[in-house]
Amino acid sequence: MTDPLEGIVEEEIRKQLALIRLNAGTVIESERLRQILKGFRSQKGIYKPSGSQHALWVRETLHGPYPDQEPEVFPDGSWTYRYTPEGRGGRTDMNLDTNKSLLKCIEDRVPVGVLRQRVAERGAASYEVLGLAYVKDFDGTHFILQGEPIIWEDVPVAGKPIPPFRPFDEKPLPRLEMTRQQRDMRFGFMVRQAYHEKCSLCEVGYRMHGRLVGVEAVHIIPVEDRGNTGDVRNGMLLCRNHHTLFDEYAWTPDEDFRVMVADDEEFRKSATANCVLDWEGKRLPNLPSKEYLLPAMEALRYRLSKFETT
Ligand SMILES: [Zn+2]
Repeated sequence: MTDPLEGIVEEEIRKQLALIRLNAGTVIESERLRQILKGFRSQKGIYKPSGSQHALWVRETLHGPYPDQEPEVFPDGSWTYRYTPEGRGGRTDMNLDTNKSLLKCIEDRVPVGVLRQRVAERGAASYEVLGLAYVKDFDGTHFILQGEPIIWEDVPVAGKPIPPFRPFDEKPLPRLEMTRQQRDMRFGFMVRQAYHEKCSLCEVGYRMHGRLVGVEAVHIIPVEDRGNTGDVRNGMLLCRNHHTLFDEYAWTPDEDFRVMVADDEEFRKSATANCVLDWEGKRLPNLPSKEYLLPAMEALRYRLSKFETT
C-alpha cells in the first residue's frame, strides 16, 4: 500500500497532515499548536479550512460538553475513536459545515488529525496528538475514526479479524520515509495505551504537565534480534528501573505472565527493595485488558529461552 497522504492534492493540507502524523503520541502546548496548526487559534471541535471541503483536524477538550471515550487499540497500533458531531442548541445538526466536512472525508478517504486535551489550565493547556485517522462511518450518534497503524503504510487491523503474530520484522528497514525513531515513538505510544500507562510489574506511571514520564515501552524479542517493532504484542510497558533489569535478564515473564527472577544470589540480595522478588511466581499485575493485546506466546518463549541461557 502506498502512503495515503501522497494522494492529497493540496500541498498545504498534505503538509499539515504530515506534521500531525509525525507528532503522534506527543503532548504539545496549546501555544505551540496555535503557531503550527491551521485553525487552532480560533476553532474548537472540528476544523475545516475555508475553501476546503474536508475537515483538517478534530479535537476533544477536557470538560467539554461530550463524554470522553478512550481510543480502542489493536495489535498493529491502529485504533478506533468515536467522535461526537457538533450540535446547535444541544442537538446534533448534521447540516453544520463542520459535520459535513467530516462526512466528505468518509466519501473521499481523506484523513484528519485527532488531538485530545490533557491539561486544561489557562496558560498551560496542552494536547496529546493521537495521530491521523480515517473517518470510516457515521453511526447515527458518532463519527467512527480509524487511526493509522504504527507502520502507517500497512493496512490497519482495526475492525478486521486479528492476524497471527509475526515474531520478526521481515523487512528490517522502513519501506517508506519512516525512520526507526518515528516507528519506535509510535510503538511506544500504542504500548502505553495498551498497558493503561503503567509499569506492567510495579504499576508506576506519572503524568507531569500532561506528559507521561518514567515508563518506557520494551521489545520482548529484542530489536537487535529483528524482533517485530510494529506489533504491540511484542511489547510491554515498564518503569525505568524494571526496564533496566529486564534488559539485563534479571527477570522475565513466563508463558503464563508469571514473574521469573534470575538465579543470581548477589542480585537477589540487592533486589529486595525494587519489588521484583515480591512478584516472583505471581502473574504480572498490569496487563492489557484486551486478550489480543497481550504479549504473544512466541515472543515470551523467545525471551524465556534467552533468560534461561543468560
Ligand atoms: Zn516498574
